[in-house]
Amino acid sequence: MLDKLPTLTETVAIHGLRADKSLGQHFLLDLNLTRSIARLAKPLAGHHVAEVGPGPGGLTRALLLEGAESVLAIEMDARFFPPLDDIARASGKLTVHHGDALRLDIAEALPAPRKIVSNLPYNVGTKMLVDWVTTQPRFWEQLVLMFQLEVAERICAQPGESAYGRLAVLCQSVASTRIAVEVPARLFTPPPKVDSAVVVLDPLEQPFTELKALGELTQACFGQRRKMIRASLKPYAKRHDLTLADWLERAGVEPTARPETLPVSAFHRLVEAR
Ligand code: SAM
Repeated sequence: MLDKLPTLTETVAIHGLRADKSLGQHFLLDLNLTRSIARLAKPLAGHHVAEVGPGPGGLTRALLLEGAESVLAIEMDARFFPPLDDIARASGKLTVHHGDALRLDIAEALPAPRKIVSNLPYNVGTKMLVDWVTTQPRFWEQLVLMFQLEVAERICAQPGESAYGRLAVLCQSVASTRIAVEVPARLFTPPPKVDSAVVVLDPLEQPFTELKALGELTQACFGQRRKMIRASLKPYAKRHDLTLADWLERAGVEPTARPETLPVSAFHRLVEAR
């Protein structure tokens, strides 16, 4: 029974769990807050949830209390294994994977239908997200992820906004994206320097599928975002044996346009017109 466990604050004290900054550790110890984050992933019933970086288990407990079918928690810091084992025993629905989430094939480790719900470590969160949105076939039904506010804004940005770039184009090619809630730094233990936000990604009915090519193209476009597209894509066109002007015309993209003003669909046309 989860309600028989020590509180999260007591758990941290009992196990002497000081946050390790090198692992991006900032904890959420208020179960009301973690339950409200878990509820953003509703419905959880019937879904298997992967949680990267459970730490002392605040969000883990919330996911179980909100009805997840099962939770796979992936943690590299061994200090958290004993309190996570306590949650596993009390719930009977938690499996703890010891190791680096970047090296785990979640689709293999967890049955479908899957969601990923996590308060991600800041240093590797963006890399994990890009891996998950570009993996094909898509293996998740929903992503509910906490990032630094600045990263959340980059995921959800629209053309013309300063935060718009490669991350927005890749994510919005496969999912609708929204910032569901902002979480001020003071609600974490210890408080990080910046505020955070939870982003919800729901899969599009017709996602773009040429994601490897899109990854390379957006790298070329946004590597030099201030340049006009005809300049930023020149080396790419050469590498791919494309006549730049013809290619841009086929894609319906103005040579003088700047990448940060182009809608996501323009990047898809550029990939398709190669
Ligand atoms: N979910 C907890 C919470 O909200 O209180 C902790 C979140 S803390 C921001 C990030 C957690 O990710 C830490 O527990 C850290 O040890 C873990 N972590 C960092 N890098 C990781 C990786 N590559 N794979 C798995 N876990 C990782």
